[in-house]
Amino acid sequence: MNAPASEFELIDRHFRRAPRHADVRVGIGDDAAVIAPTPGMELAVSVDMLVEGRHFFAGTDAEALGHKTLAVNLSDLAAMGAAPRYALLAGALPDADEAWLARFMQGFRTLAERHDVELIGGDTTRGPRNLCVTVIGEVPPGAAITRAGAHPGDDVYVSGALGAAALAVRALGGDVRLAHDVLARVRERLERPEPRVALGLALRGVATAALDVSDGLVGDLGHILERSGCAAVVELARLPADPAVAERLHGADRDVALACLLAGGDDYELCFTAPRAARERIDVLARELAVPATLVGTLERGHGLTVLDEHGRPLAPLPASFDHFG
Ligand code: ADP
Ligand code: MG
Repeated sequence: MNAPASEFELIDRHFRRAPRHADVRVGIGDDAAVIAPTPGMELAVSVDMLVEGRHFFAGTDAEALGHKTLAVNLSDLAAMGAAPRYALLAGALPDADEAWLARFMQGFRTLAERHDVELIGGDTTRGPRNLCVTVIGEVPPGAAITRAGAHPGDDVYVSGALGAAALAVRALGGDVRLAHDVLARVRERLERPEPRVALGLALRGVATAALDVSDGLVGDLGHILERSGCAAVVELARLPADPAVAERLHGADRDVALACLLAGGDDYELCFTAPRAARERIDVLARELAVPATLVGTLERGHGLTVLDEHGRPLAPLPASFDHFG
């Protein structure tokens, strides 16, 4: 049997590559990476951690996990309207399982290359499986889309569809029964979310506020409302529910479907606000990018979120979003 790889052999084999871009002056292999960002651009920086047993099931396919570890971070940059450029990867691994690592990095690199993101550093240590990525993106001065710029009167949009990832978690946990092909589809949404990078870039100068829906719409839209000092009225019937969730909104599983739709995390869609005058522009850019952008409600003066049911009555109580310490 081969001797287990040392930390430095692992780094050399799985993480170190020749820099692909001239702006990476010093890449993996030194004490720090040195980058030369595009002159005049502002940097958007974010870090996100995935812990086994908390953010992903033990035994999750390594390739899918590599994808998701980077995807959730690119999603944060997308929500800011930033173009992703660089990533750092800190990993705690229970053992030097090279087959696992090779698959993990295949998922990570395939997504990184698709978005032209370069891995410039990280850290590797033994411990309970835990993956932590830092991403760095660029945005023109003042163009970052924050959570704080929404105004009363703005429209509220959601990209893609909501609820599939949360439905998959419930199905895998045995709370919901799904047909085999439906489970395969929603599980793909849970394990391989597609960060809305192109949409985020297209929303620069259009959206007044944005974030990615990682913990559930109620809580996440609530962050925009709090930071922007607005209230929102959203119509349940307009929300873009994943078909498997939509189907369950009118039967015995309604509560589960509502929870997945309104408070299910892990979809990594964008929720954003924009003035009414931008409606046509948003329809056009969504069509061009082939990413649905659904108008789900409007902002008002005041505070708090109201979700109107199919009869126009406020849903109460609203299902709570995920909170690690809640
Ligand atoms: P130091 O001891 O200075 O922290 P390390 O020995 O941890 O350096 O890392 C050596 C080089 O390998 C550094 O450039 C570091 O950024 C890189 N590196 C280590 N682990 C990873 C990883 N998981 N992904 C990417 N780069 C890594
Ligand atoms: Mg180190």
